[in-house]
Amino acid sequence: MATPRNNIWCWALVALAAIFMPSNANAEPPLVDIQSVDPTIVVDLRYAGDNNLLKRPLYHQGMRALARPEVAAALSKAQTTLRRYQYGLKIWDAYRPVGVQTKLWQASRNSDYVANPEVGVGSLHSWGIAVDATLVDSWNRPVTMPSDFDDFTPAAMWRYTGRSFQVLGHVRLLQWAMHRAGFWGMRTEWWHFTIADWKKFLPIEARQSAHVQGTHWTGKL
Ligand SMILES: [Zn+2]
Repeated sequence: MATPRNNIWCWALVALAAIFMPSNANAEPPLVDIQSVDPTIVVDLRYAGDNNLLKRPLYHQGMRALARPEVAAALSKAQTTLRRYQYGLKIWDAYRPVGVQTKLWQASRNSDYVANPEVGVGSLHSWGIAVDATLVDSWNRPVTMPSDFDDFTPAAMWRYTGRSFQVLGHVRLLQWAMHRAGFWGMRTEWWHFTIADWKKFLPIEARQSAHVQGTHWTGKL
């Protein structure tokens, strides 16, 4: 049974934890399972298996595609748009814990693409406000897109410059549906989308660092 003295110690520990919490701590934003908001959205978390940059699972077994409720609602909106055209969304990544971001950063050390979790706000995935998404057809089968996930070549650029009208149609449809639902894209990765009003989900001090170091996250996963 907790005594008053124990309670005082508990509160003292909570207070200490609050004091020593780094200003960009974002370990637990309010998150929901995207598929609980819209079960028709396909999920294939690439960091949950070995088909990724590190060739090994980075997420624990049973990891779900999580995002802030506002982001999940916007994804559902994009899904509704895509369904009208006989397509749908497939999520490659959503909320990404800071620990996983650190592993990606350590493995790649490529600051052109991967956000250093210790710089500025780190990756916006770790705030539950960015997702990586591609298209599937009405049977949830993959369709031709400009590149695979985490392809750090010019083929990954937002603006498709290849010659396939089919690929162009697919990537434009994805980008249009996501834009309509309230997402921004990213110049270097056609699959990456950030909720347009991302700033309101960051603490004030982190907003400032995002502003000062704006280019540190706008071009990275
Ligand atoms: Zn991303």
